[in-house]
Amino acid sequence: MSDSDCLFNLALTGVQQLIPYIPGKPMEELQRELGLTNIIKLASNENSLGTSPKVTAAITAALPELTRYPDGSGFALKAALAAHLNVAPNQLTLGNGSNEILELLARTFLSPDVNVVFSQHAFAVYPLVTQAVGATAHVVAALNYGHDLIAMRNAVDEKTRLVFIANPNNPTGTVLAATTLKAFLHSLPKTVLCVLDEAYFEYSHAEENAVNWLSEFENLIITRTFSKAYGLAGLRVGYSICHPTLADLLNRVRQPFNNNSLALVAAEAALQDKDYLQQTIALNNSGMAQLTAAFEQLGLAWIPSAGNFVSVDLNRSALPVYQALLQKGVIVRPIANYEMPQHLRISIGMAHENQLFIAALTAVLADA
Ligand SMILES: *Cc1c(COP(=O)(O)O)cnc(C)c1O
Repeated sequence: MSDSDCLFNLALTGVQQLIPYIPGKPMEELQRELGLTNIIKLASNENSLGTSPKVTAAITAALPELTRYPDGSGFALKAALAAHLNVAPNQLTLGNGSNEILELLARTFLSPDVNVVFSQHAFAVYPLVTQAVGATAHVVAALNYGHDLIAMRNAVDEKTRLVFIANPNNPTGTVLAATTLKAFLHSLPKTVLCVLDEAYFEYSHAEENAVNWLSEFENLIITRTFSKAYGLAGLRVGYSICHPTLADLLNRVRQPFNNNSLALVAAEAALQDKDYLQQTIALNNSGMAQLTAAFEQLGLAWIPSAGNFVSVDLNRSALPVYQALLQKGVIVRPIANYEMPQHLRISIGMAHENQLFIAALTAVLADA
């Protein structure tokens, strides 16, 4: 056995088998590779609107205090969120992105003795955090690309500790009706935690706010983020809302200063900037219409999406199309790793970015 095999075998079995998360290709990387200057990235469901000027101002004001540790309790941001959501601050847990919350949930509640239920085509982080702690994943076949909650309920057994539901789901954009979700929650044993990942909540035009269900379902944990509609992906702020007892447990596991001080003030400013959010949602609605009209024109099927992205079916291997788009300076997301090798996921951008993507896709498809 070589030295590197010996070193590798020191890791937990689950970690040895992990396949790292594949992020969207960074613009700088494509620039280095191809020497292109005009690059658009519609690959990571970021907000193309750019940073809110109110956020920039808040960060600038906080710069002189960077020698101090951040407020490890996140007091001010939690107070603002609690008022915004009409919950108590002790129901909130702040994370370095909602990704960190997903990881905290795994470290707090999972072990090699338990299993986790989630859907096929669901967000890639669920299998990662499950496997990293050695728990078993029960992946349930999707129904029309969405979560099949009846099959998911049937997959829950006496060893199930947690269920992940992405609503809307990434990369499919599918969303569940409130009545369906509530029926699932009613059917779930109280000893099974239900994590409702609402990273795209602000875009989703949800009929009901699941935060109002928390008093009825003590095993419900809702996660949300500032990365998507609030435009703070680069700063990493997410949070969960749940029963205070569960929040207390998560708090024991998290790093004491998991949110840096600039992220904390930025999120607070972003939460107050209602105009930015409204502008974001309006831009997303019109951009979604722009893209789907183009797909229609090109004779391509797409999955109706409640997020700030849409997955289109190219009816052939998507990878060559993805690569041809890169040559034209357009970065989108191939999703073969989600068992969707014929789809590309496109994040909704500004109107001119969407137009550049449509022109590039039209040219690539005509060439092939
Ligand atoms: C983007 C995303 C997240 C987390 O993003 P953070 O930047 O870590 O907050 C969580 N869930 C889904 C489904 C996502 O698409």
